[in-house]
Amino acid sequence: MSQNPHGNHAIRRIVLPSGRTIEVIRFNDVDAERRELHICPACGSELVQPMAWNETADGRWDLVLECPNCGRSESGRFSRTQVERLEDHLDEGLTEMIADLQRLTQANMAADVDRFVAALDCGLILPEDF
Ligand SMILES: [Zn+2]
Repeated sequence: MSQNPHGNHAIRRIVLPSGRTIEVIRFNDVDAERRELHICPACGSELVQPMAWNETADGRWDLVLECPNCGRSESGRFSRTQVERLEDHLDEGLTEMIADLQRLTQANMAADVDRFVAALDCGLILPEDF
């Protein structure tokens, strides 16, 4: 087993009976608690999303997480604190998307008004159009 330079996880290589080698990444418990769930451990994307979730009897959460960037999927049991941080991050993303949508809507409306005024100026809109 080898430690990475940051010491927050260990990589273990296992040779399967088929001869294929796989890497198992194991986070130690303390660092696993600090791990930000919205960040993909494989590609570093910050867009990891929960695909399924279920609260356990001890107040933790079983989550299925998926990275839309590299397609990595994982399932695991995470602390309430970690899940709350993920939820906060998702809320921030939703707020940003709504703000973008409002800006886009305003820009479209401004463009519509400009076209309407130009059509009026050219005499292309008449009372009988209404
Ligand atoms: Zn990824």
